[in-house]
This record gives sequence, structure tokens and C-alpha cells, in this order.
Amino acid sequence: MSNPDHAIKKVGIIGSGQMGAGIAQISAVGGFETVVFDLSKDALDRCTALHNKLLSRAVEKGRMSQEDVDAAKGRITYANNMEPILDVDIIIEAVVENADVKKQIFSQLVKEVKGNPILATNTSSISITDLATSVGDAADRFIGMHLFNPVPIMKLVEVINGLATSKQTTTRTIAMAQAMGKVAVPANDRAGFVSNRILMPMINEAFYTWMEGVAEPEHIDDIMKLGMAHPMGPLRLADFIGLDTCVHIMQVMADGLNNPRYLACPLLKQLVTAGRLGNKSGRGVFDYSK
Ligand code: NAD
Repeated sequence: MSNPDHAIKKVGIIGSGQMGAGIAQISAVGGFETVVFDLSKDALDRCTALHNKLLSRAVEKGRMSQEDVDAAKGRITYANNMEPILDVDIIIEAVVENADVKKQIFSQLVKEVKGNPILATNTSSISITDLATSVGDAADRFIGMHLFNPVPIMKLVEVINGLATSKQTTTRTIAMAQAMGKVAVPANDRAGFVSNRILMPMINEAFYTWMEGVAEPEHIDDIMKLGMAHPMGPLRLADFIGLDTCVHIMQVMADGLNNPRYLACPLLKQLVTAGRLGNKSGRGVFDYSK
């Protein structure tokens, strides 16, 4: 993967959590000067340690040479303040899934950035058109770049155009995603975009199937894995995503698409109420405490 003579040379990433760390890695490996900014010093330290671990593993497995890894590491800067990301060609935001937090960041950014960078968000459900209202006249440079977890492995980038996103913004974003080794697929801005619009109702239906006693959770997952060739059953996938996140995305779709068929299954909501959030809390549908 290399970055030939391409308009985008420098990438700024906001948030160094699960997604931001992965985006920073593929950006640096893809040949872009990369700055990753997080307010939390601990998150930046975890991100640095993760990069060191994953890139060392890439050398061990023969996927990258030591020379390429050193060059990629040399392209990453870890920043605890916003200043170093103000002078980049594209900013990719990957902080918490909260519209107010994201809008506050973008409205501050748009006043301080130098030049006219593309303003991208990695939101998995919030309306791009809505988030773009925080940047005023720069809405034509605002776009959704929905990457998937784990970022270095998953091939897809769902590129979502808001109502005001310009063609040039879309073209440049797709070209950059390709230079990062991804397959960029365009979608328009409707709640859930394409990926969650189809995935989440399937997961929700798996909870209804369990709630109605049609089958036990492991059997529901086995049927979908073995019969539909899904790599992971829908209930285990829900645990991996986070049951609270699943409820949140269903609600965003119910509101955004004005349709109660997207409301979360009562059993899914009940597990969240009980604190069973999936892998991250040690228990969701399945038990991860051991
Ligand atoms: P995360 O909680 O792992 O990381 C978020 C990071 O943002 C944290 O390190 C936090 O310190 C930092 N942060 C919070 N506020 C900030 C601010 N104002 N300025 C700078 N940094 C700030 O979250 P994540 O799982 O990486 O998700 C990030 C985004 O990506 C969300 O919008 C989420 O919906 C989306 N997304 C997540 C997944 C997934 O599977 N985790 C998949 C696709 C999209």
C-alpha cells in the first residue's frame, strides 16, 4: 500500500479509542502523515502500545517489512491537544457516539482549522446532514466515513454523503480510503445508512426469536452460522458490538425512519437494564467472565 501523488497527504484523527487507533494505523501504513488527537493521555498511551504490538506482529507474520513498519511509525504523531490536527487535509472524527459531543468538536474545529480540510465522521448511526449543521458553510466538505471494527482487518468503508456533501469531497474521500487499502462503497444519508439498516433488524429479530422460545441462543447462532455462512451468529455479534449500542442504533432508526418496526426488542432492552452489555461488561447474551 502506498500513497502516490494524491491530494490528501496529511490526516488528522480525533479520538484514539477502538476505532481511532485502527484508523491511525491504516492511515500511517497507507503512506499518510497521521496525527491522532485524544483528550485522554491514557487512551493515547493505549493507542501507542496497540500500534507497537500490531505492527510488530505484522513483521513476525511476514505481512510487512521492519523497514516499512519503522516508516509507518515515523508518520504517526500522538497529540494531547488539538493544535497539531489544525493543519491537515482531512480530519476523521472518532469520539463517542453522541451528536452533541461531535457537533461541539466540529463547530470549534471549523473556526480554527487552516485551509479547507475534508471533515469526516466515523459515526455508525447519527445523521451526517444533522452533524454537518455544526460546520455552517463548510457542509459541502462534510462526509461520513463509516469504518468497521477491527479497522485494520475489515475491508469496508461506507462513505455517506450528507445532503450538502460535494462530489469533490466524495471523490477525494473514496480515493483516500482506497489508498488505505479499503474498499469504499457510497451510501446516502438515512438513519442506519445501509450497514446498520440491514444488520440491526436481523440482530433484533434474533432477540425476538430467543424471547419467543423458538430456540436457545447458541442454537439461533448455530443456525445462522451454518445455514447462512455468517462468520458469527447474530447474538454473539450483538455481544461484540455492545447490547447498549444495539438498542441505541435501533432507536436512532425508529426515530429517523419514523417507523416503529425498528424499535428494540424488549428482551434486548431488558438485558441492557440489567447491565448485561456484552463482551465489555463480561456478560451479555453469553457469559464472558471466564
Ligand atoms: P471509544 O470509546 O473506544 O473511543 C473514543 C475516544 O474518544 C476515547 O479515547 C476518548 O478519550 C476520546 N474522546 C472523547 N471525547 C473527545 C474529545 N472531545 N476530543 C478528543 N477525544 C475525545 O469509541 P469507539 O468504539 O472507537 O467509537 C468511536 C466512534 O466510532 C463512535 O462514533 C462509534 O459509533 C463509531 N464506530 C464504532 C464502531 C465499533 O465497533 N466500536 C464501529 C463503527 C463505528
